[in-house]
Amino acid sequence: MTETPQERLLKWLSDAYAMEKEAETMLSAQAKRIEHYPELRQRIEQHVDETRGQAEAVQGCIERLGGSLPAVKGAAASFMASVHAMGNAMMDDEVIKGSLLSYAFEHLEISVYRTLILAAQEAGDETTRAVCERILTQEQAMADWLATHLEPTVRQFIARKGSEDGTAKR
Ligand code: MG
Ligand code: FE
Repeated sequence: MTETPQERLLKWLSDAYAMEKEAETMLSAQAKRIEHYPELRQRIEQHVDETRGQAEAVQGCIERLGGSLPAVKGAAASFMASVHAMGNAMMDDEVIKGSLLSYAFEHLEISVYRTLILAAQEAGDETTRAVCERILTQEQAMADWLATHLEPTVRQFIARKGSEDGTAKR
């Protein structure tokens, strides 16, 4: 069976949509639990808003191409994201585990949008290409922020473990 570049683009846009729904659940759960790292919490909350916008933008591309949203897959992905957040919550270094997971996840997103940009080019879909370029910029900014702020978070975590242990975890 053959496949047009537009059909392939549509499939990957659906995957990206499911990924963003997962990201929204994961990031919201993570932000809500952070108490003693206000800068980190605020940046994650900002990215939750960006993530909602990304899901909507990807949805727009899917609908413009005549596709439908992957509802079941999105729900399953969100469930897994909740389970993951709960797993982190049981660790005594929750804030660090969350930071590491977020850093890895942003890089997954970066590679997904790089792939989508190429697929949109192959499909001759300039609108989708531009949407994905804009989202890529947000993912890259979030990944860069997390990379820069890993150091203060880790140093604060270790310092708190030695002085006021109760506030270190989250
Ligand atoms: Mg995203
Ligand atoms: Fe992201």
